[in-house]
Amino acid sequence: MIRFLPLGGADEVGASCFYLNIDGTGILLDSGIHPRKTGKESLPKFELIENEPLDFLFISHAHQDHIGALPFLIKKFPHVKIYTTKQTLEVAKLTLHNTVRITNEQMTGTSDQILYDHDDIDLILRSITEVEYQKSIEICGLRHSSNDVIAVTFYDAGHILGSASILIEYQNRRIFYTGDIKLSSQMLMDGAVLPDKPVDVLITESTYAATESEEIGTVKTEGEKLIKEANRIIHTCGSVLIPVFSLGKMQEILMFLHNKMRSGKLSETEIFTGGISRKIAHLYDTNRFLVNRKYDSIKLSEIEQFKFRYCKSRLLQKAFLYCACIKRYDAGEYYVEQTDEILAAS
Ligand SMILES: [Zn+2]
Repeated sequence: MIRFLPLGGADEVGASCFYLNIDGTGILLDSGIHPRKTGKESLPKFELIENEPLDFLFISHAHQDHIGALPFLIKKFPHVKIYTTKQTLEVAKLTLHNTVRITNEQMTGTSDQILYDHDDIDLILRSITEVEYQKSIEICGLRHSSNDVIAVTFYDAGHILGSASILIEYQNRRIFYTGDIKLSSQMLMDGAVLPDKPVDVLITESTYAATESEEIGTVKTEGEKLIKEANRIIHTCGSVLIPVFSLGKMQEILMFLHNKMRSGKLSETEIFTGGISRKIAHLYDTNRFLVNRKYDSIKLSEIEQFKFRYCKSRLLQKAFLYCACIKRYDAGEYYVEQTDEILAAS
């Protein structure tokens, strides 16, 4: 018998975490945190499986809403075996360490109380097993009640570096969990690779499912709008702030701007980048021949960029501080919070 129970990520975007019980083998698909909630509210409802078997966790990709709750899951279920791709593991090494302090503070309301530390993260990361795309592994939980094993295969989801969709095959049934998936190619990442046989059960994201496709816009038309606006602003000596996620979107936009400048469609200008996104861009470079990445002859790190702190313009420095303080993007609007740093710079 196969049972399915969402612990998070159903009827909402965030805290993706789905439980499968396949004849006594307990499987979790992702262990994410909810980006718009804080404290325990941001975690998946792990308590729903306290009396269930849990043997394996498969992580689709390294965005926080799919991996951020991993340290809390391991506190509760230390024996669980974790699998993900080599690239997701490399990115997670950066991002999970990067969020230790923030997550602890959000969970406890104080910087004194530590729920997990960098040593805990190192231990978790060392216990993760890497899997290759399209190479099946066979699994079987401690309380598995049949002689048939479960086959699990990762497929490139085309979303960000290392992202995967996960196919689970058992007794001639095929369950396909897409994770975040992109079927068409982006500037850097090629589109998703899908299994060549039909699936019986599809577990998929539906972020834009209820949105009319005309409202979303295409990459081409949105790109053209961005270039038009950027040229207008550059010609009036202004600065263009582009707040993007450090994992995935930053690298895509950087390559987009580089290509547009090279082709003469975007006026020559300095590009400033910062934070963890530069380290992640380095991983996009070192893995460029191992994944379905376009422009693999160009290293992102070789595109001329300046770090925020090298910027001499006081006005621009102030703008960057605003950029760093953008808290969230919601329904087409950016919410900006002022901080003491901004006030001091003004
Ligand atoms: Zn994602």
